Amino acid sequence: MAARVAGSAVEWNVGLQEQAALDIVKESTRQIVDRNFDLAADRLGLGREERLLLKTPFREVTVQVPVRMDDGSLKVYVGYRVQHNGARGPAKGGIRFSRDVDGDEVRALAETMTWKTALVNVPFGGAKGGVNCDPAQMSRGELERVTRKFVSRVHRVLGPMRDIPAPDVNTNAQVMAWILDEYSSRNGFSPASVTGKPIELGGSAGRRQATGRGVLLVLKEHLKDLAGLRVVIQGFGNVGANTALLLAAEGCEIVGVGDVFGAVVSGDGRGLAIPDLAEYAQETGSVAGFPGTDRISNDELLATDCDVLIPAATQGVLHAGNARQVRAKVVAEAANLPTTPEADNVLADRGITVLPDILVNAGGVVVSYLEWAQNLQQGTWSEDSVNSELSRYLREAYRSVVDVSARENVSLRQGAYELAIGRVLEAEMLRGT
Ligand code: NAD
Repeated sequence: MAARVAGSAVEWNVGLQEQAALDIVKESTRQIVDRNFDLAADRLGLGREERLLLKTPFREVTVQVPVRMDDGSLKVYVGYRVQHNGARGPAKGGIRFSRDVDGDEVRALAETMTWKTALVNVPFGGAKGGVNCDPAQMSRGELERVTRKFVSRVHRVLGPMRDIPAPDVNTNAQVMAWILDEYSSRNGFSPASVTGKPIELGGSAGRRQATGRGVLLVLKEHLKDLAGLRVVIQGFGNVGANTALLLAAEGCEIVGVGDVFGAVVSGDGRGLAIPDLAEYAQETGSVAGFPGTDRISNDELLATDCDVLIPAATQGVLHAGNARQVRAKVVAEAANLPTTPEADNVLADRGITVLPDILVNAGGVVVSYLEWAQNLQQGTWSEDSVNSELSRYLREAYRSVVDVSARENVSLRQGAYELAIGRVLEAEMLRGT
């Protein structure tokens, strides 16, 4: 039975067999990160030593996570934490629970966090972590034991001034609460040691919706008026569901959504009733079967006619095999690394604008920074203050990206990477090597 943990828009909903059945052609996550970095590094004229300095992870930890299951058996999971770069501040990045998690994936996602935190100019470096496990097959008690055992084995490299975890795929506020408790039991009460916590434990107003709100803010900066836009969203978890709710409230028509179990489009071609759909998905664990919709495959979803396509599920979903079928005018990357290098080229050739992940989904890390700052000050800010700070950070980042891209005549992604890499390199040089 799927585990149920309160606090996320849609609860644990990943089934491994279902994922395999989707038969999504995935390219190496590493390849996507390397290509984005290399193109920008070439144009910045970086030499071999600078590239080595920027690409080599600061620290990588792999741990055994033995857990007693409910039936009395022992399972031994593998957990990872990679701190890619800390030149600009403590490492920051999510923790995911998934059967896809491995060292390569975590390393690539940690590097992505380094560029993201630098791009939006929050004083953090980049990290990522995860445990290779299948939360859909685990009870709440088993999930708690996995979380606690993992933290007990990596807590020495974590901490408010070292490395601060946050939610990611299949983890949520409840998991962050267990992380807080486990870390604090060894190090003294430390709310700033993790973000994305429940409000009752020092979490920030606005954090749960922050990544979705960031998607909305970046789209608004780019397109100005969102009313009436036809939008398709792949992924209906924390990021996808909150993005859908916020865009629908802004007057967008969300015409199709999908998750790992399947995808639906509205039967009458008009926007879906997103608040009802969110409730339905929370109850059933999936968007599939929502009344008044037609079921389609995930590939058909990505090829649905729309103004804006928002991949908000996982990496590598837009690839050489399906990029030519995309019928959106704009792709807003809410997931990390959803577009392979080949798909990026195809979309560019076809005149489809890609708003890059390190900008579009940075709302989460910006509000994580605001949460951390509140915890260090032992204060709380109103949701309005948090949202207006979020908007300030993202607007500034968007404008800087547009300026660099226009000046250098490069894509928004390349503009974003140039900016981010330049900032991290400068911090490295100032600190001295
Ligand atoms: P989540 O676990 O809450 O939701 C993931 C959603 O994607 C689920 O609906 C799941 O069914 C669906 N999904 C997973 N694999 C899929 C596949 N192969 N095809 C179709 N659907 C699939 O996770 P989340 O926190 O919403 O994260 C989604 C993405 O956004 C990830 O790439 C994550 O790294 C990124 N992200 C998350 C945050 C955050 O604050 N949570 C911040 C920045 C970026």
